[in-house]
Amino acid sequence: MEVNINSIIWDAKEWVFGYNHFQMIATVSDYWRRKVLSVLYGRGTTTRAELVKATALNTASVSLVLRELIDFGVVQPLGKLNSSGGRKSEILRLNPDAAYFLVVELAGTRNRFGFVNLGGDVRFRWEQPFPERSAVSIEHVADGIHKIFDHLSSYERSRTISIGISYTGYLTPEGELTAVHLGWEKVPAAQLLEDRVQFPVFLAPDCYLKALVEHSMGIAQGIGNYIFVSMDDGLGVGCYVDGHLLMGKHSMAGEFGHITIDPAATDPCTCGKVGCLEAIASSPNIVRQYVRRTGAAPSTLSAFAVFDHARNGDRAAMEVIDRVGGYLGLGISQLVNLLAPELIVLGGDLIEGEDLFVPRIREQISRHALAPLAGSVAIETSRLGQDIALKGAASLAFRQSLLHKAALKAICSPILIFAGGAEA
Ligand SMILES: [Zn+2]
Repeated sequence: MEVNINSIIWDAKEWVFGYNHFQMIATVSDYWRRKVLSVLYGRGTTTRAELVKATALNTASVSLVLRELIDFGVVQPLGKLNSSGGRKSEILRLNPDAAYFLVVELAGTRNRFGFVNLGGDVRFRWEQPFPERSAVSIEHVADGIHKIFDHLSSYERSRTISIGISYTGYLTPEGELTAVHLGWEKVPAAQLLEDRVQFPVFLAPDCYLKALVEHSMGIAQGIGNYIFVSMDDGLGVGCYVDGHLLMGKHSMAGEFGHITIDPAATDPCTCGKVGCLEAIASSPNIVRQYVRRTGAAPSTLSAFAVFDHARNGDRAAMEVIDRVGGYLGLGISQLVNLLAPELIVLGGDLIEGEDLFVPRIREQISRHALAPLAGSVAIETSRLGQDIALKGAASLAFRQSLLHKAALKAICSPILIFAGGAEA
């Protein structure tokens, strides 16, 4: 191991007694890299001075990491900016093609796969349809990942770092995933996938990832108290309170779909209970309620078709939308009373039904939430589109890779061939 004399400059607070000298250098250097990469990722573009401030590292540590990352092509200088003191500050950003992440959205009836660069752009995506509530095997998921990987160039493969997965369900601290929509019970998903795909695999709940992305790049940017409500095959929320995302035990805070909204309701829920909000307000259950009223063939219907029928004045569809919107609004008004959000962002299939659901949710909030809260809460629909969970899974994969020794090393390795194929 070659020891650069500069790397002996460390932050005093990073000194860990009991480590031998060489271990300490490696640990501290990774710590510096992690902090610098994390700030660059979160900001898009920044300057050295801003990096020093945001990382709370000393100038020498930041310079050392930047020298390495610029030499390796991982960080790109974008030119100089005139600052007020007459000195020019260099603008820096992460090379968006320095690292890629394979991402998966395990939504049950429509599992989506994607390939996302370090800049957060979804380069490829495809969807693997499954019949409702069929058991999806780990092999299905591994096949989907392999299909994306097979289409990559040798450069893209060489810079693929890890896999991020968004799920709806429950993960034990031992990594066993229970996901009713997939037919999985205590499946050690990350471990089984890592055996098949040879990349580190990281998982987080769907709503957590959507709320995170909306907060970092969507309309909830800079808003400390906001709730992301996502309805598709299930229903869940991600809640920011005073700038912090609520996680709860087993990352299970936000199981909004399984609050009992009507103890007298008989709608069966995937969790095995009745009376849950999700058993009424979720896309498959919108179809189910419409089919029950009309006898329409469920295989030819989507929730979006029911929305259109309601817009065209179809009475059964209007009844379903009134029931779904009413209960959803009632549930959200309880969240408004509990958490006092400034903003509610609607996502998933609610985006397509904005015109139908927003007025019904507003009405319920004004009826059931306390007046000062009801009067000040804004309702918006997410503008991050259908890729929001894939972007969130990539953000998770990046953040977790910083903590994974081999993955961090891969991100910080020299780029030998550029995306165009030319030698560096
Ligand atoms: Zn339930």
